[in-house]
Amino acid sequence: MLHDYYSFNVLRPLLASQKVTVTEVVTKLLQHVQEQKDLNAFVNVYAQEILTKSYAINQKIQQAKGGALAGMVIGLKDMICYKDHPLQAGSKILTNYISPFHATVTERLLSADALIIGHQNCDEFGMGSSSENAYFGTVLNPLDKTRVAGGSSGGSAAAVKAKMCHIAIGTDTGGSVRQPAAFCGLVGFKPSYGSISRHGIVAYASSFDTVGILAHTVEDCASVLEVIAGPDDFDDTVPSQKVPYDGRTLHKSERYKIAYLAETLTNDDLQLEIRSHTISSLELLKKKGHQVDSVDFALLKYALPTYYMLANAEASTNFARFDGIRYGYRSSHATTLEEVYTKTRTEGFAREVKKRIMLGAFVLSASQCETHYIKAMKVRNLIKKALQEILSSYDFIILPTTTATAFRVNSFTHSPLSMYGSDLYTVLASVAGLPAISLPNGVDQKNLPIGIQIIGSYFEEEKLLTFARYFESMHI
Ligand code: GLN
Repeated sequence: MLHDYYSFNVLRPLLASQKVTVTEVVTKLLQHVQEQKDLNAFVNVYAQEILTKSYAINQKIQQAKGGALAGMVIGLKDMICYKDHPLQAGSKILTNYISPFHATVTERLLSADALIIGHQNCDEFGMGSSSENAYFGTVLNPLDKTRVAGGSSGGSAAAVKAKMCHIAIGTDTGGSVRQPAAFCGLVGFKPSYGSISRHGIVAYASSFDTVGILAHTVEDCASVLEVIAGPDDFDDTVPSQKVPYDGRTLHKSERYKIAYLAETLTNDDLQLEIRSHTISSLELLKKKGHQVDSVDFALLKYALPTYYMLANAEASTNFARFDGIRYGYRSSHATTLEEVYTKTRTEGFAREVKKRIMLGAFVLSASQCETHYIKAMKVRNLIKKALQEILSSYDFIILPTTTATAFRVNSFTHSPLSMYGSDLYTVLASVAGLPAISLPNGVDQKNLPIGIQIIGSYFEEEKLLTFARYFESMHI
């Protein structure tokens, strides 16, 4: 059920009136973690630590001194620094790495009295769409354990769905929060690029990377955004004025202008039920008095190649830092400095990451830079401008989140290009840096969740979440 005990905003008054204690909540969630270990959602669980903290937070709540998220139990993707705790970004190359500092998001969550239950499994460095490229093994979908939970924040989605935590903080570079949310029937939110500080987040593709939120409800998502968004001295890409944001205004309603991209619904690879559910939702919006128009978007077919070209290029430079000297793993077979680099990287990175580093280095090489990297940058600009143009006449763009519902484990092991293809609809907002949210939109014949995506204008997260909340209520 949508609004049950596991939605934090439903739990909050129960905690305030002491009908339930933080310790009871934590104990229950930890029990779920124990019972469903086979999902492989967590790489580390900080059980004793949060049980101990739960008493202090309970006391704060009793004295009406609890922070904005007092009692909320949150999981962090294994890409987010938590001081004095291990961090591996789902990779062997960070073995034994302990974060010496907090990510800004972690710091803000802790200051608001949230409890961090553990680090969650993911594709290595966020590179994947199924959490199968994970050093700690594949994450399974709680709704059907023969299927993937999506990726790369698959452990985070599985944990929220399986009621192991209220919220998970993931990273979304090309869809890694929205796609697993769609596969697990959750809300998955990616803010505008620059809304949330990336300080203390392991970099994959720095001009695309965002911190995202996985939740049961839009309201929960809004409560967390309010705490973690906004300026940070450690990240200059976050604008210095606070993004106007107040979760309490989520109840406004007005007549919205909505565009949908014709090409997203005529795509032959789109699962039929996803198409019909998306169309039904658009029709429902029309019936409720909103303006819903089809808009052509011929650039759609360039979004994926643009994303993969640029993301790999950025990753290849970002990952130069994993050299066996500075962080984590170092090969024990090296006898020279050069061997420390080559053997550490050969042994420490798995196949997908190596492939992407090579592809990225290739598109940046002197002979290819103009024809590949620079060209992709130009196409990125065209996509950005075309989307902005649509958003100058419309409030939102609606499209499916994924081309298909959760697929079976190992479906794409031998055809990685088809796996990349499944990111078609999520990379659009990432290429443009726009905020986007995936919401549950019914189920297919196999009872697997379908996601629908809403893209908003730059830094208009409040308006986007207000509409998302309206959309959510339309479906209850
Ligand atoms: N699936 C995409 C990729 O592999 C997106 C991943 C992400 O958002 N971290 O790059």
